[in-house]
Amino acid sequence: MRDFSGDHQWLSINTATVRNSLGADWPLDKIIAACAARGIRAISPWRDQVAAVGLKRIARQLQDTGIVLSGYCRGGFYPAIDAAGRRAALDDTERAIDEAKLLNAPCLVLVVGALPGALSGKAQYTAISRARSEVRDGICASLEYARTVGMPLAIEPLHPMQAAERACVNTLEHALDLCDELDPPAESAGGAALGVAVDAYHVWWDPKLEQQIARAGARRLLAWHVCDWLTPTRDLLNDRGMMGDGVIELPKIRRWMEAAGYAGFSEVEIFSTLDWWQREGGSVLDTCIERHRSVC
Ligand code: ZN
Repeated sequence: MRDFSGDHQWLSINTATVRNSLGADWPLDKIIAACAARGIRAISPWRDQVAAVGLKRIARQLQDTGIVLSGYCRGGFYPAIDAAGRRAALDDTERAIDEAKLLNAPCLVLVVGALPGALSGKAQYTAISRARSEVRDGICASLEYARTVGMPLAIEPLHPMQAAERACVNTLEHALDLCDELDPPAESAGGAALGVAVDAYHVWWDPKLEQQIARAGARRLLAWHVCDWLTPTRDLLNDRGMMGDGVIELPKIRRWMEAAGYAGFSEVEIFSTLDWWQREGGSVLDTCIERHRSVC
């Protein structure tokens, strides 16, 4: 396993981690400059953060600073109550694929969606099997476009507590079943067109995790996201902990990832309304570097 203790060349910052500095919006161009000043080599930005500054401006700044992407967030949210809604999700994901391409991302992360309407408080239907079938068809359609431009898609299984609102793919096993069905190994001889983003926060509890990481192999392991699981957790979405402050055995899972062939970045992704988003962004980045070396 790679030794992270001596430097932070394999650290990436998911820019949601510092989207708020001292409780106020921290624009992406400022975040990139702060990362560059600290020798951070990679980021994974969110579409709204890119749009707020301008896609071309961000692309230029990345070139100027030499910072690369470890992923791009995000496409998906496929299920909808009608065909027009499903079409809109496909169109939106195609735009995300184009942006990912322009920013030279190694993959577009897919948060696949769940019961339509649930995120805003009222599910328009309650059949999770229907949502899963719409997700399957949606990924299949996005994949067709993604293949033409050469942008790998990474399904991110989310913790089951998000199954109603954000993603009805909740285990690595389910995500890999979709990969094997929609992107059989024989069809993409080079890299996989469809793989997975393994986020420790979402999958750490899974008794099949080691086995499924080994099953995925280097071809399908497109991203590795880290943070920590706090006890107690005070908010289902925005109470992620800094690495080392919770109960996830990060080095153990990274050892499984690397034994399976993963050799990419360790991407810090922390949503934290109550804590880290209240702090000064630069000091959060400094803590990420320190914990990357000492904990991850
Ligand atoms: Zn993630």
